[in-house]
Amino acid sequence: MERFLQERLDALELSGGKRTLPNPLHVKQGLNLASNDYLGLASNLSLQQEFLHTLEDQTPLFSASSSRLLTGNVAAYEVLETTLARLFGTQSALVFNSGYHMNVGILPALCTDKTLILADKLVHASLIDGIRLSKGKFLRYAHNDLNHLETLLRTHHEAYEHVIVVTESIFSMDGDEADLKGLVALKHRYEKVVLYVDEAHGVGVRGESGLGCAQACGCMGEIDILAGTFGKALASVGGYIVCSTLMREFLVNHMRTLIFTTALPPINLLWSTFVLERLSGFGNARAQLAKVSTLLREGLVQKGYAHPSSSHIIPLMVGENTPTLEKARALQALGFYALPIRPPTVPKGTSRIRFSLTSLVQEADIRAILDVL
Ligand SMILES: *Cc1c(COP(=O)(O)O)cnc(C)c1O
Repeated sequence: MERFLQERLDALELSGGKRTLPNPLHVKQGLNLASNDYLGLASNLSLQQEFLHTLEDQTPLFSASSSRLLTGNVAAYEVLETTLARLFGTQSALVFNSGYHMNVGILPALCTDKTLILADKLVHASLIDGIRLSKGKFLRYAHNDLNHLETLLRTHHEAYEHVIVVTESIFSMDGDEADLKGLVALKHRYEKVVLYVDEAHGVGVRGESGLGCAQACGCMGEIDILAGTFGKALASVGGYIVCSTLMREFLVNHMRTLIFTTALPPINLLWSTFVLERLSGFGNARAQLAKVSTLLREGLVQKGYAHPSSSHIIPLMVGENTPTLEKARALQALGFYALPIRPPTVPKGTSRIRFSLTSLVQEADIRAILDVL
């Protein structure tokens, strides 16, 4: 085994694709341009203090000690799920241990060999893994290309019982956005279609009260499985979907990544609820994030960089691995902690620096980045 491990690692190193876990001190030193703490809430210590004061002495906080199907379904789950359903205006909600558990578990639970999954070419690894574990037939449509999606639908939908269309709202590595309204319209033309939208990078950041791109485009009620994570803008841990009561009941009975794992610790559920309840109040952070994002995107275009995205996730395309790594190291040496993204996270030949901005970034910071690029 050892020889096999070493040879595979050596090959990765040679292609510039070898990864190491980043040094926490390096992350702390520079301006963090690689964080998903989009609203700055994870680093907001006074918010955290305020939360800690709400805790009661009598409740065990740090472990649920078993699966939700056994004794782990603590009261804080019900509070969090009721809060989600109320805010999103849906019948129901379901919380998972992480966005990864969520996406790995939903499709295997829902799909039979009579299900067709049509997924955007660039969906997140967790969705791909869910597809791989499912019995559904799987086709990809070209990134954000609804014409291609409709062609596939027209050709194949007769042959299946259900067609699940899977996309992200803001794409994690490209920062561009799906046309949710267009997808909803398509769903209305093909009755077998079930829409599954992952808002990992949209929730908190978009929408009048921070509920995501679906809220911003007024189609929250028309997405069958509207998913997100607490791990990014919401500064906590866990995944969620808002959905019908029927969908929730089905998943509770069939979803292996919900059933066969220890439930989340109560403290995380309570904190997620605390943050969600305050989400509509973080409009200033959302506005600041939008402002610095626009500034960086426009600055990059002026410097002749292509593909500036439309959100706070802004890729600077380089191409090959080695120059991407060198560019990232050079930026880091100047105090800008941006990370290189390489295959298999992104397609071969599209290695990039990924700027992931937060509301803590100031306009002067953006000018400083643009100056050194
Ligand atoms: C981060 C991410 C996930 C995983 O969520 P976690 O809660 O971090 O496990 C799922 N989907 C997308 C699109 C993501 O970017």
